[in-house]
Amino acid sequence: MQEEEALAGIPQPENSQIEDESAEHHKIWNECLNIIRGRVNSQNFKTWFEPILPLALDKEKFFIQVPSQFFSEWLEEHYYSLINEVLTQVMKSEITVDYVITPEERDNENQAAQTAEFPAVLKPDPDSINLKAETALKINPVRQNQPDLQPSLNPKYTFENYVKGESNQFARAAALAVANNPGGTSFNPLVIYGGVGLGKTHLVHAIGNHLIWSGKTKRILYISSEKFTVDFVEAIQKDSMTEFSNYYRSVDLLIVDDIQFFSGKEKTQDMFFHTFNALHQLGKQIVLSSDKAPKELKGLNERLISRFQWGLTADIQPPDLETRIAILRKKSGLEGYDIPHDVLEFIALNVTSNIRELEGCLISLLARASLEDRSIDMELAKEVVRSVIGEVRSHITIEEIQRVVCDHLGIPEDLIRAKTRKQEIVNARQIAMYLTKELTNSSLKTIGLHFGGRDHSTVIHAYQTIEDSMNTDPKQKVIVQQLRSKLERTLH
Ligand code: ADP
Ligand code: MG
Repeated sequence: MQEEEALAGIPQPENSQIEDESAEHHKIWNECLNIIRGRVNSQNFKTWFEPILPLALDKEKFFIQVPSQFFSEWLEEHYYSLINEVLTQVMKSEITVDYVITPEERDNENQAAQTAEFPAVLKPDPDSINLKAETALKINPVRQNQPDLQPSLNPKYTFENYVKGESNQFARAAALAVANNPGGTSFNPLVIYGGVGLGKTHLVHAIGNHLIWSGKTKRILYISSEKFTVDFVEAIQKDSMTEFSNYYRSVDLLIVDDIQFFSGKEKTQDMFFHTFNALHQLGKQIVLSSDKAPKELKGLNERLISRFQWGLTADIQPPDLETRIAILRKKSGLEGYDIPHDVLEFIALNVTSNIRELEGCLISLLARASLEDRSIDMELAKEVVRSVIGEVRSHITIEEIQRVVCDHLGIPEDLIRAKTRKQEIVNARQIAMYLTKELTNSSLKTIGLHFGGRDHSTVIHAYQTIEDSMNTDPKQKVIVQQLRSKLERTLH
């Protein structure tokens, strides 16, 4: 093999100390390359061996220069023994390889020359609506004077627009802490997890948006895990791994949405593992979202899961009734509408498990009101809910009755199931038991169990007490009737 041929594609240094390519270590390295070429596939050879520069040789070590820390880690993990074995074979004595990372100045030179049209990393995600993102396609991964990125964040997904509720309190507080001090808290990575449509994407965008406005963090990258995978595969195909890894390592905040889609993708996970380590080491902030707790993610490498657990994992639960109503109020307010409370409550009572669906109902409601020139009232709400979720529910759960009763009477919900014998709590509990008996098919035993494990005779006693009090106390009668009609409004 000719030397020129073997060196083809190797970036040549400007003011090199190693210009003499007839030097011993060059010859040795070329011999090694010839052997290695027969042992790895051509793609890997191009990606991982051509960029290496032989630097020097002493008695025990062969020094090679590689373009980045990441590159050396990759070699270390995948080709360390191959290189050592081949070196020993060529040198006929035991030699190990050692890495030198390309000096920063040269790094910049090389990268500036490559100023890559980077693999669509910043094309707008379907989740986002930032039209300016296209302009961010042409990024220059030079480390100094790095331009700000224009991450494709939805400008509406802010903390301000994120309604705080018991279900998301912890995740929101953690996200705020990270947004105020990226890389500076022990919440690194911050992993937010929860079911579909519960606000994960909104919350991770909020961190990015907050940092853009505060001007503190310049290089923010938001990407879905699928996009990361696609770009990684593309980088391999286009032989642009170096740009790929340099690019990811140049950001100050990396947000990866829906990491559950890394499942089963071994190579992508490897790549992400190294990116993660490099950023973490540099004190850069990493924010991840997932539909499950990291340790419950199947098909994910153990070492990756253990990295995810270095920081803080915070979950988002399905929102309670009050939060659902507050979200609807917030969203309709943002659209410039003031919708009657009973309409919002009706939607919130019927759409319980997914905020995206909740929003879908609201959007349909507004659209139909405007297109059909109708007023926003219960009648329209019922039609919309029926068309969005198929059916208006024909039954009420015991939990909902408890929630509505406690809300109406202004008492903490957990007390209704507790042992407390305070008069107002006992009254609320008895009203809720009464309404449960009236509005559901639950047995006395089931009802008792749902009210802190009380027995069926307690439920009978409660029922009779409320019936009696409605006959003797008009105020009590009004309260129970109000509650009853509130709950019945959620039915057909
Ligand atoms: P996920 O990523 O968990 O599937 P998203 O973040 O896409 O969910 O949320 C779905 C929709 O619900 C978005 O439009 C988002 O703005 C809205 N949403 C979720 N949680 C909240 C909240 N706490 N306050 C306001 N809007 C919310
Ligand atoms: Mg999402």
